[in-house]
Amino acid sequence: MEKRIAVIEKEKCNPEGCGGYLCIRVSPGNRMGNEVFVVGPDGKAQVNEDVCTDAESVTVKKCPFSAIHMIKLPAKLASQPVHRYGKDGFILYRLPTPKFGSVTGILGVNGIGKSTAVKVLSRVLQPNLGKEKSDFSELLQYFKGSEAQLFFERLSEGKIKISYKPQAVDLIPKQFSGKVKELLEKADEKRQLSDIAKRLDLTNILNSEIKELSGGELQRVAIAAAALKDANVYFFDEPSSFLDISQRINVSKFIRSLANESTAVVVVEHDLVILDYMADFIHVMYGEAGAYGIVSQAKPTRNAINAYLSGYLKEENVRFRNHEIKFTERPPDRLIRTEPLISWKDVGKKLGDFKLTASSGDISKKSVVGILGPNGIGKTTFVKLIAGVENPDSGSISSKVKVSYKPQYLGFNSDELVESYLNVDELLSKQLNLEPLMKKEINKLSGGELQRVAIADCLSKDADLYLLDEPSAYLDVEQRLIISKVIRERMEQFGKTALVVEHDLVFIDYLSDSLIVFEGEPAKHGSVNGAFPMEEGMNRFLTNLNITLRRDPDSSRPRINKSDSRLDKEQRESGKLYYQ
Ligand code: ADP
Ligand code: SF4
Repeated sequence: MEKRIAVIEKEKCNPEGCGGYLCIRVSPGNRMGNEVFVVGPDGKAQVNEDVCTDAESVTVKKCPFSAIHMIKLPAKLASQPVHRYGKDGFILYRLPTPKFGSVTGILGVNGIGKSTAVKVLSRVLQPNLGKEKSDFSELLQYFKGSEAQLFFERLSEGKIKISYKPQAVDLIPKQFSGKVKELLEKADEKRQLSDIAKRLDLTNILNSEIKELSGGELQRVAIAAAALKDANVYFFDEPSSFLDISQRINVSKFIRSLANESTAVVVVEHDLVILDYMADFIHVMYGEAGAYGIVSQAKPTRNAINAYLSGYLKEENVRFRNHEIKFTERPPDRLIRTEPLISWKDVGKKLGDFKLTASSGDISKKSVVGILGPNGIGKTTFVKLIAGVENPDSGSISSKVKVSYKPQYLGFNSDELVESYLNVDELLSKQLNLEPLMKKEINKLSGGELQRVAIADCLSKDADLYLLDEPSAYLDVEQRLIISKVIRERMEQFGKTALVVEHDLVFIDYLSDSLIVFEGEPAKHGSVNGAFPMEEGMNRFLTNLNITLRRDPDSSRPRINKSDSRLDKEQRESGKLYYQ
């Protein structure tokens, strides 16, 4: 038995944009006199799923903003939602289970309900079990016999205290003004401020103003604030954004250390190398973004990530994607040296206390160059030099090039509509799925939506060199792969060059033809090395970090080796730190 569910994504529904309730006008059901689509109290379309038939698939296709979803689900599942946002809103089925003593990960595409699930668990959102209203005793009854029972029992007994690090750390400066120390003192229920500040490398910025922090600093302050609360369940929504790789590893260790017999940790994370390193168990979430999301059973991390990549959950016998995501073991055989776009020799530049040096190197046209290196090591300064915005103190740069730049940190604050801000070609709009965003105001976009708009904006400008600083932030695994493909294709097609600063190793592997490696000491001095072929660049970078990565035998995805493990030693000896 199947049950039909119908959902309107209110955020996407734009009755003016479609010429006036197109769905109401074209719905076969409405034409026959049934009220399948009506105007809702908020002025958006509303769908009545009880009178929907298969014939409405035409209406679904006609909506220019892809706001209508119609899905058939097994009746047993469909009758047991945990939460539904209104009568025709997104539906969440099942819940992840925090486990005491462990780190539990949640993995799934954007819009699949991860934050909704986290909000239910953290009691920010009272779940309604898909009805108008429900109370806590009904909820307890609902979870009886399920994995979540123990958690909800403890919650109802008031034995659970929750702490939550939100995804959007960019919002902190809008909500808090003052110094880092003041913010952390407010959170410090455990009286561990100086210890945790030390472990998250915040000691030097305790007296800085929140509004002056970089994205990576804000992220660590937010993580510290969450950890300082005296809670027994800690939620971290995307803790790796804006951090460089060594910071990601350090933060992972820190987050892991919070889990003990009486404490559970839950993380949402899209950097697969980091999620793998951090989590003990993972719930995969699948369904249809914007319409419904189902939480899978918890599986051991390795199996869960592999299942996610393969698109198939064996235990549930569910195929949720029709293609596998694959990785290659060997370096992508790229670095086809064409004409250099720009070259440099013996460049030196001092800015305040910071000094950048670039001995000699070049980057080719028609290529994508990945940039690896810690935050604060001079990546932006280097780009300003090659763009001619700054002049070197010594040495030479072959020519100036026109640069289009997407910053790491997207501080847009505008009520302009996306369509009046963006000027993109049809192909780019289609590839990045921008059409449904066009009628939205920029400051109402989610982190991932804003990122796609910013990437599109950068790529649509006329330039010789495109610099994208951390395009992966807030994007899910699948969007990261699409972005890689789009950047690669455009550079190839238009004969241009992209420099991409990235800290997600899986993404940099997919994306780059060659690598520039920045070395030195953040805020003191940095040197530019390369561009190198992939294997050489990656070996050099991982040597600096003092880690090695092995390949998962099933999915070929990279995984961090335990330091001093057999593989770690073997790979160091043979000089194959990443590619085998
Ligand atoms: P994720 O965290 O996986 O990106 P979310 O839980 O944020 O997913 O959102 C899942 C779906 O629920 C989205 O389509 C979103 O638009 C919708 N949604 C989230 N919050 C609300 C709300 N308050 N009212 C109606 N719909 C919402
Ligand atoms: Fe128009 Fe689509 Fe909204 Fe219907 S659901 S009013 S077709 S935007």
